[in-house]
Amino acid sequence: MDFTLSEEQQMVRDMAQRFAETEIKPKAAQLDETHEHPGDILKQLGELKMMGIAVPEEYGGGGMDYVSYVLALIEISKGCASTGVIMSVNNSLYCFPVDAYGTDEQKKKYLYPCAAGEKLGCYGLTEAGAGSDPAGMRTTAVRDGDGWVINGEKKFITNGNVASYGVIAAVTEKGKGYKGISSFALDLDNTPGFKVGRVEEKLGICASGTSELVFEDARVPVDALLGEEGGGFKQMLTTLDGGRIGIASQAVGIGRAVLEEAVAYAKTREQFGKPISSFQAIQWKLADMATELDAAELLTLRAAWLEDRKKPYEKEAAMAKMYASDAAMRASVEGIQVLGGYGYCKEYPMERHMRDAKICQIYEGTNEIMRLIIARNLIK
Ligand SMILES: Cc1cc2nc3c(=O)[nH]c(=O)nc-3n(C[C@H](O)[C@H](O)[C@H](O)COP(=O)(O)OP(=O)(O)OC[C@H]3O[C@@H](n4cnc5c(N)ncnc54)[C@H](O)[C@@H]3O)c2cc1C
Repeated sequence: MDFTLSEEQQMVRDMAQRFAETEIKPKAAQLDETHEHPGDILKQLGELKMMGIAVPEEYGGGGMDYVSYVLALIEISKGCASTGVIMSVNNSLYCFPVDAYGTDEQKKKYLYPCAAGEKLGCYGLTEAGAGSDPAGMRTTAVRDGDGWVINGEKKFITNGNVASYGVIAAVTEKGKGYKGISSFALDLDNTPGFKVGRVEEKLGICASGTSELVFEDARVPVDALLGEEGGGFKQMLTTLDGGRIGIASQAVGIGRAVLEEAVAYAKTREQFGKPISSFQAIQWKLADMATELDAAELLTLRAAWLEDRKKPYEKEAAMAKMYASDAAMRASVEGIQVLGGYGYCKEYPMERHMRDAKICQIYEGTNEIMRLIIARNLIK
């Protein structure tokens, strides 16, 4: 087995690493504190082709593979987990479905601006009563003349308060269960009847906006329908498989930041006349973190490698997302322990990493749902 990265993959990783180290990491604590949207950073990420890494160049993207996406997203998330999730949602949850299911015309209209990083996209699936079970959604889209009329509310939508475009799922035929769900690509800036609802105050990833999307007789053109009518649920399952590779990468990035900072601290902090890194109890924590993060990264790269080869990767993406988010959570809790009282205080970034890691166990399917998906694949 050859683990060597291609020249292009190495170049993307190194570029993302340099950019994260110099432009993102120094601002991460302030972004977390102020909850400010990292607009300037995202503009630069767009110029570096990071907002639509795997989208063909003719539609504004980077024309690269999913392994490159994982490598870049790990580095960006290591610098700032909020920036990481904004990038992940734009790439995996917005650009992917428009690229995969849109026509050439739709791609020019709805994909190009977000893949090129000029605008931001979001993905609206979850509703107040439909989280782990999205088939229970209530938002409807009814065909009316030369367009569709959408009514309903989406909940907890990443980038929802700042996005210009969105892919949203709605019921187009009641009584047909998941077969009655369709998805739509929307130009949110030009959709009468659409407004941003409540913006959430959160535990972590504070610089990434999470909001409701409210549709009240919102009229959208006929070309908003993505793919076949009634095909939205299937599209959603595939979109989320890819999205989970993104969240796994985000979690690995957070874990890598924890490990780097824990090692550096342990080597300089002295107690009992010695660096704490000389104590076996501390060494074991670092060894466990490093091993679990390598395992998480390898699971994530395997899922991306399968996606690049158009082989099935639903189970592998769920494994990567579940394991990487659990590994990042364990690493961040232990990271605080390595720093002792300093780890608990905002002077050091460790408490932020723990708050940021937690969401990776929840969104794009909770880790309980990941276990259901993995088991379903084992026993089918
Ligand atoms: C910060 C943030 C950003 C988000 N971004 C987006 C976004 O961009 N777009 C979007 O559409 N959604 C988004 N979400 C929604 C997210 O995907 C859901 O919150 C998540 O899927 C869980 O749904 P829920 O919160 O309704 O929890 P519930 O489904 O109510 O689950 C509650 C608990 O029950 C467990 N549970 C539920 N069903 C089962 C079962 N069958 N077996 C075992 N356990 C089960 C869950 O694992 C969980 O522990 C975001 C959420 C947050 C907090």
